Amino acid sequence: MKGWESMSPECLFVLDNYNDYISGELDPDRVSRVEAHIRSCPNCEIFLGKASRIHGRTAGLLRVQAPQTLRKSISSLLEKT
Ligand SMILES: [Zn+2]
Repeated sequence: MKGWESMSPECLFVLDNYNDYISGELDPDRVSRVEAHIRSCPNCEIFLGKASRIHGRTAGLLRVQAPQTLRKSISSLLEKT
């Protein structure tokens, strides 16, 4: 994975907490912090998307009422990368 040179403390926070985030066990304060960060950090957004696919779950981003077609294009995008 490229682009992690710009990794910030918030990226490390996401990495530390993504597992609980994906499994829905993260407390709401941390969930907000993770979601606020992935909106401004493509690396973490992609990372979380891939991680959630591996876990067979849907990441927070996709959970937000994405139309079926959008979900499909996001999935196929992630499969190509
Ligand atoms: Zn990040």
